[in-house]
Amino acid sequence: MNILVINCGSSSLKYQLINSDSEAVLAKGLCERIGIEGSQITYQPDGKEKEVTVSPMPTHTQAIKLVLDALTNEKSGVIKSLDQVGAVGHRVVHGGESFTSSTIITEEAIQAIEACNDLAPLHNPANLIGIRACQELMPGTPMVAVFDTAFHQTMPEKAYLYGLPYEYYETYKIRRYGFHGTSHSYVSKRAAQFLGKPYGQLKTIVCHLGNGSSISAVQNGKSVDTSMGLTPLEGLIMGTRSGDVDPGVMQFLMHKENMDIDQMLNVLNKKSGVFGVSGVSSDFRDLGDAAADGNKRAEIALESFAYRVAKYVGAYAAAMNGVDVIAFTAGVGENDKNARRMVCSYLAFLGITLDEEANSTRGKEIVISTPDSKVTVVVIPTNEELAIARETLALV
Ligand code: AMP
Repeated sequence: MNILVINCGSSSLKYQLINSDSEAVLAKGLCERIGIEGSQITYQPDGKEKEVTVSPMPTHTQAIKLVLDALTNEKSGVIKSLDQVGAVGHRVVHGGESFTSSTIITEEAIQAIEACNDLAPLHNPANLIGIRACQELMPGTPMVAVFDTAFHQTMPEKAYLYGLPYEYYETYKIRRYGFHGTSHSYVSKRAAQFLGKPYGQLKTIVCHLGNGSSISAVQNGKSVDTSMGLTPLEGLIMGTRSGDVDPGVMQFLMHKENMDIDQMLNVLNKKSGVFGVSGVSSDFRDLGDAAADGNKRAEIALESFAYRVAKYVGAYAAAMNGVDVIAFTAGVGENDKNARRMVCSYLAFLGITLDEEANSTRGKEIVISTPDSKVTVVVIPTNEELAIARETLALV
């Protein structure tokens, strides 16, 4: 069966068509600037040149129509008709406490997703627009919602409750939810398979380090803690997001800089992180280059990032009373050997030793700790689209 995976944002939409038998990506691409002047669609059929077409996309429905046209195009399409799309898998950011796993999309499910809009006002409405647009264009094709939060719904109360008045949890469901769940689930499972170890008996810490970063403790196949919270702002220092900050900083800065809460959150989400600290870039390649050229703030941004990751690893080793496997994934985790080395340099107390040569390898699943290391450290490239396709297949 061919499964169309859709990741719909407020003005962009990523897609992949995956054959669920071979798990091959038949085509993939991106619609950008939806609803804005200058929109364009990128379409890349497997093994062929990327095509970029500037085309008006006033709505998400129009964007998805262009995706479907590209997939079925006589010349460069990869399928003859939409009948060859067996199901659609939608990434949905927030499932609140309503969704502990992926779900077939029904009117009832849509209402439950809508009820989570308050928890992810930037993401969920956009995800729902993508769902509605697909329903309009492909009526009758089964659709599945795969939630970023679902994998973390196994966290115990002590991990997900904030130290706030309990009635805020009862009334508004204010708690830790965690994100990147599809990636944490895929990578923790894949690490166990790759190492030939039983997933159900393993203590794994997954470091998903990308532009957005989060870390999770996965014990016996279940997420027991994770660094992102009610929103994806908490936890690690990220590309442009601050991660953990004393909430008192907000009051102080809002007074001093005469900012309202939206402006403050804009600073925390878009102007902070390694970008804010360095003043150079949110991209770790630029930061590495700048640090090598002697830029002290780039150097301290990279050091702070690695230090925060290592502190969370230590915390999660305590949470699980031990750790068997540490898995690095996502843009930085998969590609930046210096970041991995810096993180692991703090972890000698866990008996971790790094194999420098293996750590320099890129682009594949690999063990980067030495054979005598007490904890096995691996790099596992994440594949959220494939995980969504698998979930979709399982439900339809
Ligand atoms: P992601 O959000 O997972 O797509 O990760 C994107 C981030 O990965 C980029 O912003 C870079 O900081 C980082 N990245 C990608 N490739 C490399 C690389 N070769 N070396 C260091 N960092 C990289």
